[in-house]
Amino acid sequence: MVDLFSDDALKISSLASGSSGNVTYIETPNHKVLVDAGLSGKKIEQLMNSINRSLKDVDAIFVTHEHIDHIKGVGILARKYGMPVYANQATWAAMASKIGKVAPTQQLIFEPGKTLDLGDLDVESFAVSHDAANPQFYQFHHANKTFAIVTDTGYLSDRLQGTLKNADAYLLETNHDVEMLRMGSYAWSLKQRILGDKGHLSNEDGALAAIDLLGNNTKQIYLGHLSQENNQKILAHLTVEQIMQQRDIAVNHDFKLWDTDPNQATPLRAI
Ligand SMILES: [Zn+2]
Ligand SMILES: [Zn+2]
Repeated sequence: MVDLFSDDALKISSLASGSSGNVTYIETPNHKVLVDAGLSGKKIEQLMNSINRSLKDVDAIFVTHEHIDHIKGVGILARKYGMPVYANQATWAAMASKIGKVAPTQQLIFEPGKTLDLGDLDVESFAVSHDAANPQFYQFHHANKTFAIVTDTGYLSDRLQGTLKNADAYLLETNHDVEMLRMGSYAWSLKQRILGDKGHLSNEDGALAAIDLLGNNTKQIYLGHLSQENNQKILAHLTVEQIMQQRDIAVNHDFKLWDTDPNQATPLRAI
């Protein structure tokens, strides 16, 4: 029997996004999961409460890579709430000394290019180009809806574009404004790292990636992982909007462009 009142949506909230810390929340009727836990356990708890959700109900954390803005709270949450943590083998090795003790039974291996079937949620992992041991991101499938997260990558390969094309929603990286980065106070070597193939997508790169990825299904694009030093929300947003408009793409008509925040969760939205 079909329950007309059942809420069978795939829902997402960017709990926090930016170079200072990243956590994304995803839920289906049967699952509640996090991608990364890059803030203190306390802060993540507050962010979850702000969208009327509890960490007690989270049944897995999917880790992308061992940089501190993605793993700061992983060990704390794993110890306090006992949920399994998924990461690939190289990431486990690289983050082991940074997150403290996690019970072996909670350490699950999830290699890039695999799909995990959790029942009403499929999780697909894919490798990205970033200066970590073996960085990977995830896309989530539920009831014909797909949500893909791609930040922390120097570029998107053609192959990856194929894998990620025409999702219903994206969380995409717009890390920096190239001019702000060039003129800013970072050391030359760090600037080169960020701008390189294993660094981060700039506002322009993010816009071009979005243009390559979006299709008829795409209704929401979240701009994420902004650098506090080398970017501004309004600048990232306007740059993406402008580049899209130059190509006659109807931003805010065909799809919504949402901002994310390093300290505030986006409202829990169905995609
Ligand atoms: Zn990061
Ligand atoms: Zn990173």
